Amino acid sequence: MKFRKLILQGFKSFVDKTVIEFPDGITCIVGPNGSGKSNILDAIRWVFGEQSPKELRGDSMDDVIFAGSENRKPSGYCEVTLVVSDVAEHIAEKWGTLSEISITRKYYRTGEREYLINGKKCRLKDIRELFYDTGIGARSISIIEQGKVEKIIQASPEEMRLFFDEIAGITKFKERKKEALSKLSSTKENLQRLADIIGEVE
Ligand code: ATP
Repeated sequence: MKFRKLILQGFKSFVDKTVIEFPDGITCIVGPNGSGKSNILDAIRWVFGEQSPKELRGDSMDDVIFAGSENRKPSGYCEVTLVVSDVAEHIAEKWGTLSEISITRKYYRTGEREYLINGKKCRLKDIRELFYDTGIGARSISIIEQGKVEKIIQASPEEMRLFFDEIAGITKFKERKKEALSKLSSTKENLQRLADIIGEVE
């Protein structure tokens, strides 16, 4: 899977629609301090579904929306789209696409939010599932920003285990196990309730 294009609008300092292309090979983003380099990494992490404002260097989720400047009003919403190519065949088939797929996240100051795959509304879970076996994700070890190396070196055994799980591709199975256990638990509760009702009726 390869990143092809990142489209930002109203996200942090990127108030106007900005398209960043990733050609084959290594892409370097350079610029003066405060010019928005880390905001681009935040956008990638965000479109993968990061839910913690702290991980996005903010205090609340509203901090990802352009906050205004001397001559621009704050934006009412923000939107990030990531286009990736060379997707696995089963993913391309599921989403009726060729080798490219786009994922989009939108967030409004009113609190409304939307996730889209190829422009069609979807759940965050669908986006996460696309990237389960790829080692790419909001908290992925493949996004190395300032301070990440120290974070990895100083990681607790539990945190280190999460990195290895992701690289080994077993996160998907852990997530499914969590879902199955949760369904099992609610089914047990329903059975218990049913037994209580039957007990009352008899
Ligand atoms: P450095 O090289 O110093 O790490 P950088 O290029 O990585 O800098 P960023 O941290 O990406 O810079 O960008 C910081 C800039 O983004 C600051 O000028 C900050 O005011 C601006 N910024 C962050 N959030 C918002 C927002 N919600 N609205 C408007 N501007 C924002």
